[in-house]
Amino acid sequence: MRTRITLACTECKRRNYDTTKDKKTHPERVEMRKYCRFCKKHTLHKETK
Ligand SMILES: [Zn+2]
Repeated sequence: MRTRITLACTECKRRNYDTTKDKKTHPERVEMRKYCRFCKKHTLHKETK
């Protein structure tokens, strides 16, 4: 079972990525470093509701 999530940049708060996750392997909010085209660098992105 995979759930749709949105990843938002923690620096500019923009929602940059839509992806899916497996709730069994990631029961809590996921965080990952991804490129933010607004910050023009890699930043930490967190799952939003
Ligand atoms: Zn950003």
